Amino acid sequence: MAAKTEKPGGSSNSVHLRAVTKKFDEFVAVDDLSLEIPGGNFFTLLGPSGCGKTTTLRMIAGFEQPTTGEVLIEGSNVAGLPAHQRPTNTVFQSYALFPHLTVLENVEFGLKRSGVKKDESRSRATEELERVGLASESSKKPAQLSGGQQQRVALARALVNRPKVLLLDEPLGALDLKLRKGLQIELKRIQQEVGITFVYVTHDQEEALTMSDQIAVMNVGRVEQVADPETVYDRPATSFVAGFIGVSNLMPAQVVKAGDGGEVKLEAGPAVVGSVEGLAPGDSCHAIVRPEKLLINDRASGIGDGLPSVDGVVESSLYLGTATQILVRLPGEVPMTVLVPNVNERERDALPEAGAEVKLAWDPENMHVVRDTTIVK
Ligand code: ATP
Repeated sequence: MAAKTEKPGGSSNSVHLRAVTKKFDEFVAVDDLSLEIPGGNFFTLLGPSGCGKTTTLRMIAGFEQPTTGEVLIEGSNVAGLPAHQRPTNTVFQSYALFPHLTVLENVEFGLKRSGVKKDESRSRATEELERVGLASESSKKPAQLSGGQQQRVALARALVNRPKVLLLDEPLGALDLKLRKGLQIELKRIQQEVGITFVYVTHDQEEALTMSDQIAVMNVGRVEQVADPETVYDRPATSFVAGFIGVSNLMPAQVVKAGDGGEVKLEAGPAVVGSVEGLAPGDSCHAIVRPEKLLINDRASGIGDGLPSVDGVVESSLYLGTATQILVRLPGEVPMTVLVPNVNERERDALPEAGAEVKLAWDPENMHVVRDTTIVK
C-alpha cells in the first residue's frame, strides 16, 4: 500500500503518533497515545518494564499495527506499510549480526541486497564503520569482537541505509556499566553528526537524562510527561514521573489553595505554602523537595524557623564522601532522604544520628507540587 501524504498544514514532525491504541486481545498495551517527535531529535521513550515502550517503537517500525489511531512518518500515514518499506531502521538489544560474514560484509549486506553497486556499497559501509570507530576491525567476524563493538557494527549497519528515523530498543541493555557509559556518549555524538531522528527505548532514567533532547515518560501504556531532561528532572508533571526519575521525597498532601501563592496540607504535618499549578483545592497531590534542598536540624535548634517544615525521626546516616545521606521517616511512614554536603568536619560531626527527632525545612521555592498518579490501573 502506498503511503498517504498528510494534508497541507499537517505535522512537519519526523514521527507523529495520533491517538494510538494497541490491544493484545483485551489487554491494552498502549492506551490512546499521542506524540510528536521533531526531526533530528534524540527522543527517548522511558518507563518501567511493561509500560508499552517497545510496543510503541514496534508500531513506528511496522512490526505491529495499531488497533486504532495513526502513525505518520515525515508527514505520511504509514498504515499498512510493512517494516521494510518504511523509512526506518531498528537497532535491537541483541545485535543480530550474521556470524559467517565479516564486519564489513555485515554492514554492506542491506545495500547489496537493495541493488547498490559494489564500489558504492563498500565506500558507504567503510564510511559508517569509520563513524563508529571500527574501520580497523572490518575484516573480523562478529565473534572476534566485544559486545560493545558488535553493537557498534549493528549501528553502522542501520545507519548505512540512511533511514529517516532510527529506532533503538534498549541497544545498550546487554552491555556492562562501563561500556554502556562510553557508548552512551558515542551514540549521542553519532546522532548529532548524522542528524537523523533517533527514537530510543530505555528503562534507565540516567541513560535517558544523559542522551535525550526530549523524554516521554510512560506508565501503563500512557505518556505522563514529554519534556527535555532538565524539566523532567526539576519539574516532573506527576508523582509517577518524580518517583521514576530519582529520589524525590514525595510527601502525600492535599491541595488547600491553588496558584502561585498556593498551599497544601501535608498528611505527615502542617499546611505549607508553595506554587500549586494545574491542581484544584481538594485534589490529592505530592509535595516534592529534592534531597539536596532540605535543611535538617534537631527540633530545638531554631534553624529553619519561618520556613515550611515537617517533623520526623532519623533512621540512618551514611557517609558518602562528598556528602552525608540521612534517611528520615515522617509520620505515616513517609521516607525522606536528605543530602548534606560535607563542607567541614565540625558540621559533619554535628549532624543528627539514628533515632534523633528532627525537623526538615525548605525554602518554599524549592517545593514542587505534582498530581498524584501513584494509583494506576
Ligand atoms: P520492557 O522494558 O520489559 O521491554 P516495555 O515497556 O517495552 O517493557 P512492551 O514490550 O511494550 O513493554 O509490553 C507492554 C505490555 O504488552 C506488556 O504487559 C506485555 O506483556 C504486553 N505485550 C507485548 N507484546 C505482546 C504480544 N505480542 N502479545 C500479548 N501481550 C503483549
